[in-house]
Amino acid sequence: MLDYLSLEADLDEEERLIRDTAREFVADRVRPEIGDHFENGTFPTDLIPEMGEMGFYAPNLEGYGSPGVSETAYGLLMQELEACDSGLRSMASVQGALVMYPIHAYGSEAQKEEWLPALGEGEAVGCFGLTEPEHGSDPAGMETYAKRGGDGFVLNGSKTWITNSPVADVALVWARDRSSESAGDGESAPVRGFLVETDRDGVSTDEIDEKLSMRASITGTVDLTDVRIPETNVLPGVSGMKGPLSCLTQARYGIAWGAVGAARDCFEVAREYAGDREQFGGPIARFQLQQEKLAEMATQIALGQLLVYRLAELKERGDLRPQQVSMAKRNNVRMARDVARTAREMLGGNGITTDYSPMRHMANMETVYTYEGTHDIHTLVLGQDLTGIAAFE
Ligand SMILES: Cc1cc2nc3c(=O)[nH]c(=O)nc-3n(C[C@H](O)[C@H](O)[C@H](O)COP(=O)(O)OP(=O)(O)OC[C@H]3O[C@@H](n4cnc5c(N)ncnc54)[C@H](O)[C@@H]3O)c2cc1C
Repeated sequence: MLDYLSLEADLDEEERLIRDTAREFVADRVRPEIGDHFENGTFPTDLIPEMGEMGFYAPNLEGYGSPGVSETAYGLLMQELEACDSGLRSMASVQGALVMYPIHAYGSEAQKEEWLPALGEGEAVGCFGLTEPEHGSDPAGMETYAKRGGDGFVLNGSKTWITNSPVADVALVWARDRSSESAGDGESAPVRGFLVETDRDGVSTDEIDEKLSMRASITGTVDLTDVRIPETNVLPGVSGMKGPLSCLTQARYGIAWGAVGAARDCFEVAREYAGDREQFGGPIARFQLQQEKLAEMATQIALGQLLVYRLAELKERGDLRPQQVSMAKRNNVRMARDVARTAREMLGGNGITTDYSPMRHMANMETVYTYEGTHDIHTLVLGQDLTGIAAFE
């Protein structure tokens, strides 16, 4: 596997083991069928508990069944999952970084005990409801709201583009708490995290099945009509947009690693194909035009790898800033999108089929480029960090 700068030479034993375990798992259990899943628009749901047994959901957290592995090990895991398919990495990212992380960071003791072991083992599935039909890049504009009622809250609103919602047992819904009169109906009402079991009256989750990207992943809505939840279902430890944004920083860290995996897979497929495919009396790998493509891909992948290894060091010592994660997410996903397209091109006509991974990765990268903050939004995050001037509005 491409590791041009020998970064893997510095891995410790546990990191190697996690990387190899994930690599073997996807080779044996997922790769043989991932093309069919992509074509059929299905996710291998039978693997959800198996992925839990393998420790793929938030192994970088400590306690409640999570071993607290290094941030490099966690990143390598995301890299290996996405080398297979972004849908697989999305499953692990949402469950781990977007549902388990906030419960771990902001949940009550009872919430942690109820949900973390079940989610970690893949016995329960979680989803993260932030995006709304009218509020994507600007989630602070959210209209979903909660009001006090009975011994808890009543929720109303609509979330869309929610990974795993149709198969989720619990949705972490971010909503404005309009309980206090002074909060009013606007953005002054605090954003809070509500754990909503999906079998509650008033919850519906419809699958979005017209996707041409991220087809091997389940995506849907979360619609809430007068949904009653007890007070104990509110995350007590956070209020404001910091709640959802801090989860997104965790998930984007995994995406920055994952995108390198997708790009590496495209590169490996293209390199092998170029060696095997003969035109004009010999392998196409002998043509300078093809070598230039491989050289450029390998260089960009190596730079992307350097970025994420550095992020892991910063994260490990608690110095990682969200803007640095924005830089890596923005760069590595764009890099993977470009690499996938070049690799597809090198495969000629065969490259447009599901027999080879590059076009599947290329289609997936359109989602990865857009979710968890679009490429444009991360550009604005960096612009603000570099100039002190926000250009969002
Ligand atoms: C397959 C898939 C899975 C997803 N999973 C989840 C999930 O699990 N949970 C969840 O909450 N969300 C999820 N999302 C939603 C995702 O995060 C949003 O699609 C994303 O935030 C963009 O929002 P939008 O689609 O409404 O686009 P918009 O915000 O409408 O953006 C449209 C275009 O305008 C640009 N734009 C917007 N604002 C600006 C600006 N200020 N300056 C310049 N350009 C701007 C954008 O970059 C984009 O190109 C998922 C999306 C997809 C496709």
